Amino acid sequence: MEAKKEENSTQEKTLFDAIAQEDLTEFKNILAQYKGSVDMLDENGMTALQHAAYKGNKDMVQLLLDRGADVNTGQHEYNYTALHFGALSGNSEVCKLLLDAGAKPTATNTVGRSAAQMAAFVGNHHTVATINNFVPRSEIAYYSVPQGQQSEPHLPAFLVDPLHKFVLGVNVHPVRLALNIQHIPGLLENADKCSKVLEMLCKKEMTRGGDTNEVMAFKYHYLSYVLREIHNIKDKKPSSDKEDKKHDIVEVFSKKLLKPGKDGVSLDLMDTFLKDCVREFPYRECTTFHQMVSSLTSKDPPPALTVINCTINGQRGFVDAIPYCSTCGEEKPAKKCSKCKSVQYCDRECQRLHWFVHKKACNRESSAPTSTATGKANIDVQELSSELQNLVAG
Ligand SMILES: [Zn+2]
Ligand SMILES: [Zn+2]
Repeated sequence: MEAKKEENSTQEKTLFDAIAQEDLTEFKNILAQYKGSVDMLDENGMTALQHAAYKGNKDMVQLLLDRGADVNTGQHEYNYTALHFGALSGNSEVCKLLLDAGAKPTATNTVGRSAAQMAAFVGNHHTVATINNFVPRSEIAYYSVPQGQQSEPHLPAFLVDPLHKFVLGVNVHPVRLALNIQHIPGLLENADKCSKVLEMLCKKEMTRGGDTNEVMAFKYHYLSYVLREIHNIKDKKPSSDKEDKKHDIVEVFSKKLLKPGKDGVSLDLMDTFLKDCVREFPYRECTTFHQMVSSLTSKDPPPALTVINCTINGQRGFVDAIPYCSTCGEEKPAKKCSKCKSVQYCDRECQRLHWFVHKKACNRESSAPTSTATGKANIDVQELSSELQNLVAG
């Protein structure tokens, strides 16, 4: 009995060491031999999961969760939870795993800060957004079961995961949402059903009583609004080849939003589309709605997209320092236009959708002397132009 105890404690120490050194092989070996509870504490009252989360080590976090590690346990002297540590690590994937496993995002440490607040404090904005945008899968799955007199549920079971994935998205740029709708299997074909379920989720969120999350309610409304618009475009399109049609719908939607205004710069169509969405939010008494309206009707109003993004993802500093995809607003895109090197895109798809806006500016920019060293992977615009001749002609 005593010998067994001793063996366990040696293994525990080695396990904590392996996490500290991020030695995954050693960690796996010890974990396979170790028979005790993985919720054991070290001398500081921290669990192995908390250490792994603090390291931002996704593999170790996953392995501990697979072994049944409790996400909400631990006796850290300042009441930090595993999610607090994950938030400090800045690894959004780790936070997502912890949240999926039931970590409570509202838990606060001894100075009253939640995990998202700690992440904001150290500047991990993507992590803040990941935590604030999190919704348990069960919230969506609820609608895949017939309620009361229903013979059919509102949401077919196969759409639970696609819709959940869509809801968790952090980038709320409408073109990114449209691309997500195109890429996540099942969403485009069932845009109408999904849109209706999101409106129900919005209503449910606003009628929760004390736990109402106005921001999440607005996000549901916003996602529903975009899905409905996509559905309307889909309805109007004559049926043709399925893949082609998928492409077309996102193309029509994006062109409508990205089209430059009369002065060639302002995005009035996108702005109108988004303002209409805010206007249609049914809960006009809530603080979130009032804040959005007052900022949209202020003397020098920011673009509606900025207002919506700030509402859903929170304020953030240094916005200008981060490069964005010119099409979908994704941060730190991987590619640049090869010709002018002055705009950035996630990939060819984003460049293709933006070409009808960018082509004039691109010709102007590229005739001016530019620096050639970029270090970025470039997209060959020459190739793109010929490929797009038919598309851009219209
Ligand atoms: Zn993009
Ligand atoms: Zn260009």
